[in-house]
Amino acid sequence: MPERMLKFTRVVQEMPDKRPANERVDDFGEIYREYAVEKAQLQAARCSQCGIPFCQIHCPLHNNIPDWLKLTAEDRLQEAYELSAATNTFPEICGRICPQDRLCEGNCVIEKGFEAVTIGSVEKYITDTALQRGWVKPPRPLREREQSIGIVGAGPGGLAAADVLRRYGYQVHVYDRYDRVGGLLVYGIPNFKLEKEIVATRQRLLKEGGVTFHLEFEVGRDASLAELRRRHAAILIATGVYVGRDAALPGAGLDNIVMAMTYLTASNRKGLGDEVPEFDNGNLNAAGKHVIVIGGGDTAMDCVRTAVRQGAKTVKCLYRRDRANMPGSFREVQHAEEEGVDFVWLSAPKAYLGNGRIEGVRVQRMRLGMPDASGRQSPEPIQGRDLTLPCDLAIKALGFDPEDVAALFGTPELALTSWGTIEIDFKTKMTNLDGVFAAGDIVRGASLVVWAIRDGRDAAEEMHKYVQARLAAETTPLARAS
Ligand code: FAD
Ligand code: SF4
Ligand code: SF4
Repeated sequence: MPERMLKFTRVVQEMPDKRPANERVDDFGEIYREYAVEKAQLQAARCSQCGIPFCQIHCPLHNNIPDWLKLTAEDRLQEAYELSAATNTFPEICGRICPQDRLCEGNCVIEKGFEAVTIGSVEKYITDTALQRGWVKPPRPLREREQSIGIVGAGPGGLAAADVLRRYGYQVHVYDRYDRVGGLLVYGIPNFKLEKEIVATRQRLLKEGGVTFHLEFEVGRDASLAELRRRHAAILIATGVYVGRDAALPGAGLDNIVMAMTYLTASNRKGLGDEVPEFDNGNLNAAGKHVIVIGGGDTAMDCVRTAVRQGAKTVKCLYRRDRANMPGSFREVQHAEEEGVDFVWLSAPKAYLGNGRIEGVRVQRMRLGMPDASGRQSPEPIQGRDLTLPCDLAIKALGFDPEDVAALFGTPELALTSWGTIEIDFKTKMTNLDGVFAAGDIVRGASLVVWAIRDGRDAAEEMHKYVQARLAAETTPLARAS
């Protein structure tokens, strides 16, 4: 039965059912079940249909949230899907993994007196249903265009751009050095947050729509950027950031101290059925180990929760600030705590201890001092309060930096920022190289999937304008005469 809106005073916030922690730590399946139809409608109907919807303003894609909530409540799900898909290329992915508590839901105005509308869960429900019922179609253009576009990187940024450009009718070629499509959606983010089949479904749709994928193709090794520029009318670079940050500490050379992406990639590959010798020989497997994860962001949360599922003896997370100052999503911290992770707040590693292999971590206790330029309180060491924690596997999740893409691509003239990210024109999304655009983490630095989608869509629109302007210039009488 269709629901009326503004139910927030009478209907309490309810997320889809969450599997109990003791059950979910035994596998890598997603932790939330799907909403039943009635519950989705009722939760959507909590929305107060704000005149100025702050949820929409704070969604990087400016999704038309109030309208698709209303359509869901009214049992007009196909229209809700059409509206949601008009601004978001992968709503079922964002509904699962956006940090909603910092974006749309964190800015839902009814949160002030009542808990926020469960926007992400409804968004996921709408598109999961659309996929099941066959409403999601491959990107089929109205007419084909001769010009081809090269996209380097099959992460969410590159894929969102591929979808838009294919709908315009371009011959779209996506190059990626991995053997699978999805970038961090597949090899970074664990299955319990995003099941890999969801990404594979999107790959199938893009392929059916005519997008060509060139996998295990590394630009810089298999072709230079200059060669790709000769092949295509325009190029998009969406290669992400992959160089893990590190801290030089005594004992850093011991075995079993690993970078977060090495650890997560091995776990994701194992889950996908690949042979992973370093996992099988125990080096990248937390089973039976005392695990310490260093860092407080979402990558650290993915590592601790993966270690729990692999059967670690203990899992501790060291973070130098306190809970209130963690960069990670509050929801993720809560999931981790429920699953048995021990957070050692206000603590930082001082040295790795061991003999050949790590056996412990010497930990420096911290306190929060005066706020720094960013307004966050800076951690300061407390002398004489060090402690030693046992550790057989230390995982470093301290953030990511870009590779030197200019050197990698054999294009030293490509302009980079002082952080090593690619510099683009704010309006045209183009780099300093004519016809070469960039999007996603390689422009922003490590960010979010939803921002990569936004950037990919925006860059695709600008690439279309660029190619059409070039064509128009080539076909003017003056150009033909010259
Ligand atoms: P990527 O997803 O990194 O894709 C880049 C692609 O380019 C890769 O497939 C790579 O193989 C390819 N590539 C790189 N160099 C070359 C080359 N030379 N030639 C060919 N191909 C190349 N965000 C969220 O919103 N929610 C989360 O829960 C979340 N969890 C995360 C967990 C982890 C562990 C990590 C590391 C990140 C997480 N993020 C999360 C961030 C999010 O995954 C990224 O912001 C997003 O994937 C960036 O998209 P992208 O397309 O720019 O790059
Ligand atoms: Fe919220 Fe992300 Fe969906 Fe936007 S894309 S509505 S921020 S979950
Ligand atoms: Fe609805 Fe909340 Fe958005 Fe207002 S801010 S339109 S109540 S979801």
